[in-house]
Amino acid sequence: MNNNLLSFSLDYFNLAGKTAIVTGANKGLGQAYAVALAKAGADLFVVARNDDWDETRTLLEETGRRAEFFQADLSNRAAVKQVAAECVRRYHKIDILVNNAGTILRSPLLEFKEEDWDAVMEVNLNSLYLLSQETAKVMVDQESGKIINIASMLSFQGGKFVPPYTASKHAVAGLTKAFANELAQYNIQINAIAPGYIATDNTAPIRADEKRNAEILSRIPAGHWADPSDLMGTVVFLASKASDYMNGHILSVDGGWLSR
Ligand code: NAP
Repeated sequence: MNNNLLSFSLDYFNLAGKTAIVTGANKGLGQAYAVALAKAGADLFVVARNDDWDETRTLLEETGRRAEFFQADLSNRAAVKQVAAECVRRYHKIDILVNNAGTILRSPLLEFKEEDWDAVMEVNLNSLYLLSQETAKVMVDQESGKIINIASMLSFQGGKFVPPYTASKHAVAGLTKAFANELAQYNIQINAIAPGYIATDNTAPIRADEKRNAEILSRIPAGHWADPSDLMGTVVFLASKASDYMNGHILSVDGGWLSR
């Protein structure tokens, strides 16, 4: 008989005693990830570009968990390099990192400005890489940790009018695998969530475009845009012991979009 089978319980999803960093959590998906992790028992270290975090603070207070806030513009590498150290200073450890902060700029490919390319790559890719590297050093010493990157449908597809966004999200998928390959030996799991089409500020312009909106809706098997709350179970799963043998995986939460 395999006694391990009887060890399994819903406690595997419990994050009590864990400390989680979530970037870009003042709104949108980051806010949902932060609340989900707190609801599962984790204490939060919220990283935000501006201190407009009252709503997130109120939501986190409702969960009864500790929440610390840190202002950092992730397009500034010096600021990025402070994040992990500041979390360790306040909590003495980092169990979970959710690399959520991201930006998108839209323009036809042939007109895309060089500075806009750089701006998107700096936040979506370079800051994710640097923060993951700094955090992984802490996790290696701890001999445990979970890094959850936020990928996209454009980690698999080309998209239109968003070339650096597509390039950055393909690279996020690649980095997820590269980190998993090197860090699995230290009991660190690095996976990514690839959200489908979620109603947030990021997608407001395409939801406001009647034609684009109808095209997208007709292609989503679920038939509707997701709400940020639809991603909450996935982030808890990837942050928890329940996913300990998953590594380097890009997990789509897309209402069936990629199955089409
Ligand atoms: P959102 O509502 O626009 O939120 C983006 C978050 O990132 C905001 O909190 C924003 O801060 C933060 N951020 C942007 N640039 C930053 C910087 N330089 N420094 C620090 N924080 C910065 O969009 P969202 O939809 O929730 O996006 C969250 C993540 O999911 C992104 O990585 C996005 O690419 C990804 N995603 C979204 C969808 C979707 O359909 N919505 C689909 C796939 C992937 P401010 O509040 O200061 O702007």
